[in-house]
Amino acid sequence: ESEEENFLRSPICCVMGHVDAGKTKLLDCIRGTNVQKGEAGGITQQIGATYLPAENIQERIKELKAADDKHMKVPGLLLIDTPGHEPFTKLRSRGSGLCDIAVLVVDIMDGLKPQTIESLNLLKSRNTEFIVALNKVDRLNGWKPCPNAPIIKAMKQQSQDVKNEFNMRVVQIVTQFKEQGINTKLNVNENKRMRETYSIVPISAKSGEDIPDLLSLMVYWTQKSMTEKLTYSNEVQCTVLEVKYVEGLGTTIDVILVNGVLRRGDQIVVCGNHGTPIVTRIQSLLTPEPMKELRVKGKYQHHSEIRATQAIKITSPQGFEHAIAGTALYVVGPDDDLEEVKEAAMEDMMKSVLVNNNKNGSSSTAGDGGVCAQASTLSSLEAMLEFLKAQEVNIPVRGIGIGPIQKKDVRKASVMLEKKILAFDVKVTPEAQKLADELGVKIFVGDIIHEVIKAYMQNLKEEKE
Ligand code: GDP
Ligand code: MG
Repeated sequence: ESEEENFLRSPICCVMGHVDAGKTKLLDCIRGTNVQKGEAGGITQQIGATYLPAENIQERIKELKAADDKHMKVPGLLLIDTPGHEPFTKLRSRGSGLCDIAVLVVDIMDGLKPQTIESLNLLKSRNTEFIVALNKVDRLNGWKPCPNAPIIKAMKQQSQDVKNEFNMRVVQIVTQFKEQGINTKLNVNENKRMRETYSIVPISAKSGEDIPDLLSLMVYWTQKSMTEKLTYSNEVQCTVLEVKYVEGLGTTIDVILVNGVLRRGDQIVVCGNHGTPIVTRIQSLLTPEPMKELRVKGKYQHHSEIRATQAIKITSPQGFEHAIAGTALYVVGPDDDLEEVKEAAMEDMMKSVLVNNNKNGSSSTAGDGGVCAQASTLSSLEAMLEFLKAQEVNIPVRGIGIGPIQKKDVRKASVMLEKKILAFDVKVTPEAQKLADELGVKIFVGDIIHEVIKAYMQNLKEEKE
């Protein structure tokens, strides 16, 4: 056990940026594969996760001077390609430390674009450190490719015109970052304090310039500055990234195991879309071949147990049809009470949905006002919350629920300042209705969100008169 105290897990790195900046191509280049060409229209359809073992990274960076005198302590890197900002925005489990470091890919010819700025704002709000990969340097007019070379070496091969254009574009991009309140600087080595000044690493995902430097920075920066966060823990920390039907396997979940060990046969609890958690057992633990992506069809390796950090596909006897992406997966241990785990799982998910809703919304929760919102599934609840948040409507929400309205939901609303429940596409049990009448809780039910809102507004007007 004492040996495990100092052992680091692999950092999780999210690759973000504007569409077409070259995120998928960069990962292809790192892996030496070609996912980008196989994607429909070259667009990343789903989240893909790739595990890079330390041996591969070491092989890749062996020509760098830094590799000689530094010891790699992390067992590898887990890279996540994102279609948008999914791993960030859709995370419904609280306090999730899914992304340890991000790579923000910027096209050197385009500079900062709207989605780059969105990514940047997400990173800022989550306090996540990042490296700017300034991609497509090979597109500079007259660039001479120098595959896998460090940028300093590659620059020496270039004409003065290329150097001038490069410098001019870097200055422009540094200025654009400055306008977003972010200090950036070229050249990793002299740039040691990441939080004050973020590193810009110029790369080409096409010809491979400076990829070794980028990898080396990811590894050495994380293991040096995030030792505590990266210290391996036996307590299972696992997030569902995707729920996906696979022929022959049924509905599977793709998870990121951040800490701990998963075993075949483990009893697990995953949040369900209908308000009840899914309790099942792990039937198989699957990973792609190393250096391949979880998303790519192909052979899987079967495991009896897997230790973090890894991206894993899990199957269960009854499938995961109603599982919710972005939520935590819980393992029921021998000393755990199943009912408690189930309750904790759903509560954690619901709290984070409410917190996220209020954080992103125009309506403030200042004061004690606010209604309860209830819908048949999490997806319809989230749609409803979007409507309530809209500027024309702007109804603050204090409590949420999924599934038919029961006595407990009425009791919850009865202790609030506004004793009102807006219910979309759900039934009200007769006992709940009876209790609501006794406690003075008003329930607005309907199959169309707008009508529920209209009825509520109408009532509000009547109350004021
Ligand atoms: P994503 O949307 O950020 O995942 O971008 P992709 O990886 O799909 O790349 C978008 C386009 O840019 C594709 O046509 C790539 O081949 C191209 N591309 C990506 N990186 C580079 C690069 O370093 N140099 C050049 N010339 N083209 C690139
Ligand atoms: Mg992509």
